[in-house]
Amino acid sequence: SSFIELNVSRPLLRACDALGYRQPTPIQAACIPLALAGRDICGSAVTGSGKTAAFALPILERLLFRPRRIPAIRVLIITPTRELAVQLHSMIEKLAQFTDIRCSLVVGGLSSKVQEVALRTHPDIVVATPGRMIDHLRNTQSVGLEELAILVLDEADRLLELGFREEIHELVKLCPSRRQTMLFSATMTDEVSELIKLSLKSPVRLSA
Ligand code: AMP
Repeated sequence: SSFIELNVSRPLLRACDALGYRQPTPIQAACIPLALAGRDICGSAVTGSGKTAAFALPILERLLFRPRRIPAIRVLIITPTRELAVQLHSMIEKLAQFTDIRCSLVVGGLSSKVQEVALRTHPDIVVATPGRMIDHLRNTQSVGLEELAILVLDEADRLLELGFREEIHELVKLCPSRRQTMLFSATMTDEVSELIKLSLKSPVRLSA
């Protein structure tokens, strides 16, 4: 299949072309139509499978065609480490380069003040590590998740291995219950299953 057949629209096709993506990887071909249909997704996918674009392309597509009602965060992507967050953020900026969708990075180790200023401008997408995101939600009045439409839990097994269980559970509770959730994990443990039960509704299971 091709990205056109997957109903990826022009500004995103241009970005795929600029990145040298000629055709979708298997996880992209499986994930994009389901994500565009609004389904919750539980993917066992590893880095290198093309997982990032598998969730980022349908997210960007949905943002393009559902104009925001009010300025607010509409997509939250949680990932275990600062390094992964930086990579995800950079990949999403590249995929969104021909759109006016804005993506912010919220991670420990960078200035909290600078991130707070960025969050107050209401980026469409926030890529975050759990601890720092919770800090902002607790401490910054104007940052909330009331308009959140899509939650992504990336590398769920590592999030839990690193001891973020409480933070993730708290974040899930702060999200509106009417939302789309996508969870990716390289391995399935009891703790991951528990998180799947807590955060996903009738998920489609995909592996790559
Ligand atoms: P990921 O698994 O998301 O970390 O992606 C692994 C690498 O594959 C990254 O360098 C991506 O830019 C690249 N990639 C993702 N999708 C495609 C595609 N459809 N065609 C070629 N390369 C891709």
